[in-house]
Amino acid sequence: MNVQNDLPNGQLPAGQLPPVLPGSTIGIFGSGQLGKMMTTAAKLMGYRVHVFSPDASTPAGQVADREFQAAYEDVEAVEEFAKSVDVITLEFENIPVAALAAAGKHVKVYPGDQALAIPQNRSLEKNFLRDHDIPTCEFRIVRTLDELKAAGQQIMPGVLKTTSGGYDGKGQYVIRSADDIETAWAELKTDEAILEEFIEFQYEFSVIGARSANGQFAAYRSFRNDHRNQILDVSISPSGLEASLDAQATEVVQGIMEGLNAVGVLCVEFFYRDGQILVNEMAPRPHNSGHLTIEGHATSQFEQHLRAVCGLPLGATAQVAPAAMVNLLGDCWSGGEPNWQACLELPGVSLHLYGKEKPAAARKMGHITAVADTVEEARRLAVAARDSL
Ligand code: AMP
Repeated sequence: MNVQNDLPNGQLPAGQLPPVLPGSTIGIFGSGQLGKMMTTAAKLMGYRVHVFSPDASTPAGQVADREFQAAYEDVEAVEEFAKSVDVITLEFENIPVAALAAAGKHVKVYPGDQALAIPQNRSLEKNFLRDHDIPTCEFRIVRTLDELKAAGQQIMPGVLKTTSGGYDGKGQYVIRSADDIETAWAELKTDEAILEEFIEFQYEFSVIGARSANGQFAAYRSFRNDHRNQILDVSISPSGLEASLDAQATEVVQGIMEGLNAVGVLCVEFFYRDGQILVNEMAPRPHNSGHLTIEGHATSQFEQHLRAVCGLPLGATAQVAPAAMVNLLGDCWSGGEPNWQACLELPGVSLHLYGKEKPAAARKMGHITAVADTVEEARRLAVAARDSL
């Protein structure tokens, strides 16, 4: 494989890995929409892509060169997959550790052990933030109802969350008073949870950073995010966050990525409250709030992720047009097939459908991005496009 540097005889600077160049094969664990958009970006750059997941007829499988369908626990299948690719990354962080270890015997697996272990467990994540002096909300880890009652004396109102396995508001319960505690504990059905202080934020935003296998770092300016029923609803960029806070958030993301030795892109979600920024959580992969980078930025988050895991130079993160993204959940299908014609009539609107078969109510089926001269107009167009469905 070709290695590009100025050293003689193809030598690499100390500690650097040879890049995985276009023409090579990228492996992806997980085959949902993030895998699909990653695969599409990889195909544009001339890579081959193999995806691995237990599911059939998957979004990513529709565009990949090869789809391995097997359980993550099937070590033999995982090893066969790993032997067929030049590097592996993943589209969601809850891949069993044993699968990653089996794959790691044959090929580099990114974002890396720490970057996976810590964000997938809210207790490890919060302790990591505290140990690195990164501003986050007050929290207590609780393992029993009595511990929750004791924590509730100090933190109220709060949000009780399972420490692992929760996403998009699943495994969460808002505790408004001591009366909610017993129900919350019973509903969550878990043996470890975290009680977080309920943050009365003015808004939420996210910053996506990228760190390459060779340590280069780059980040997008922040995206402002509105959630509905704890699921992302609308993202806009530019976010309107003050430049100094944006810079502070970027520094936080860089510190997190270096502390985790993360390779790829990593999204940090923040709360903004009274001029202060607080980290809510992080995800070591492309993120829903970064989908607008496909149309809105010089390099999409998916291409940036691939550049990072392949050890290529990172792309420019400059914004090329104000942009807004709205999610399309299964609810959009409640009255039958949506009116695609109407939504595509609006200027600057791009439609992304993930190719999922069943439009269940809160299931992410696709998204719409609009670009315009101003972010207000982009948002208006994206929302109008969805309303027209
Ligand atoms: P999460 O899965 O932790 O990102 O939570 C989903 C959404 O729930 C967040 O984007 C917030 O809108 C809300 N949320 C989560 N944690 C808190 C908190 N501690 N205080 C207030 N709102 C929260």
